[in-house]
Amino acid sequence: MEKEDNFGDWYIDIVEKANLSDKRYPIKGMNVWTPYGWKAMSNIDGLIRKELDATGHDEVCFPLMIPETEFKKEKEHIKGFDSEVYWVTHAGLNELDVRLVLRPTSETAMYPMFALWVRSHQDLPLKVYQIVNTFRYETKQTRAFMRVREIHFFESHTCHVSEEDAQRQIEEDVEILSKIAKKLCLPYFLSVRTDWDKFPGAYYTVGIDTVMPNGKTLQIGSIHHYRTNFSEPYGITYENENGEHKHVHQTTYGMSERLLGAIIGAHSDDSGLIMPPDVAPFQAVIIPIISKDNGPIVAEAALALAARLSAYGIRVKLDNRDARPGSKYYDWEIRGVPLRLELGGRDIENGVVTFARRDTGEKGAIELRNIEQGVELLLKIISVSLSEKAEKSQISKVEDMDSLDSIPEGKILRFGWCGCEECGHKFEDTYDLKILGTPYLPEEYSGRCIICGKATDKPTMAARTM
Ligand code: ZN
Repeated sequence: MEKEDNFGDWYIDIVEKANLSDKRYPIKGMNVWTPYGWKAMSNIDGLIRKELDATGHDEVCFPLMIPETEFKKEKEHIKGFDSEVYWVTHAGLNELDVRLVLRPTSETAMYPMFALWVRSHQDLPLKVYQIVNTFRYETKQTRAFMRVREIHFFESHTCHVSEEDAQRQIEEDVEILSKIAKKLCLPYFLSVRTDWDKFPGAYYTVGIDTVMPNGKTLQIGSIHHYRTNFSEPYGITYENENGEHKHVHQTTYGMSERLLGAIIGAHSDDSGLIMPPDVAPFQAVIIPIISKDNGPIVAEAALALAARLSAYGIRVKLDNRDARPGSKYYDWEIRGVPLRLELGGRDIENGVVTFARRDTGEKGAIELRNIEQGVELLLKIISVSLSEKAEKSQISKVEDMDSLDSIPEGKILRFGWCGCEECGHKFEDTYDLKILGTPYLPEEYSGRCIICGKATDKPTMAARTM
């Protein structure tokens, strides 16, 4: 199956062959995480936890179910989620007086509690996050990690004394994102979403999009400024130094298992996955090359090598199955292990380990006495090389437009837009493309709205989405 020609089928094929997820569970869009897939996701979660903990966020865990009465307090929010939530209507044989919703996201679970937790300005900022499963009734074609009904989800929620303080949190979130994305080797665009596409209840939303090989964008996360849109209906107030009661300003930041989908899409090739070293369940796999007279010596050396690398903190797998090296190479290539280490009789004699990079196919030898540092350095090089390749691919997909006479296929279009809703809708309806929004980070631009011709200093991007 070829990645460039038919990305959709290639993706499904590769998820299955690499055994990341089992879609045979009898609920569509609720896939089973296999051990290998779950290890990769747990590594991503670990990277997120590390950054959130380092910036003063506390991890929490809220209930899965939310009473309808709380869920419906913020009017825009419920309008946005009405058609995609699951309801629990019975407990045992009894019909519930108040129906319960399975969280599609946790604003309405957390905010009644925030109203109890926040008392004075000394309780602020309140910064918490959780990594849990959320539920959304997806009606479009489901696809592992990218479009599912049970979503492995990260969400952080913060409360602040003022709009400015909340804005500083958004800036911190952008910084956190850049650190995590670097480890995932994923480039992305940050766009302030259009008013008709922002999160239900938000003051504004920053969408985080990455580009897939077919030129469609995949939203891998979002950051929202709520101002007091939720704290008012939920009564989240604090007493300031003058004894006045004020509503808190809030933000949220969310990402999901789509990060794994994006990694698969961005880095893999026709031979299988290519895992970024920071995500890979196994960063290196050791394949003993045994001939008929050196079995015990090679087996022992391979065990010792695995123990050394593991003690150094490298996630290593020793493949000592009774199978031919060639078939082992094939198995680990499909699963995207970044580095293959081969150890045979001649390697042992020469005091080296032979390596092969999954991303470039490059081969070479590392001296056994410096094997830990050698492997560590190669993993770093692979990581940088994957990032550069993905970045180049993303840039190559963006096409600057000054007229709409012919729309190129498989591209992200960049053009001037006056910002008015009428021009935006006209564009989206005519070309069946989504306006991603305007750049979150300032960008120098001067041009004309591609719809109405009015002068504008803001570009916008539009794309087909996954
Ligand atoms: Zn216009």
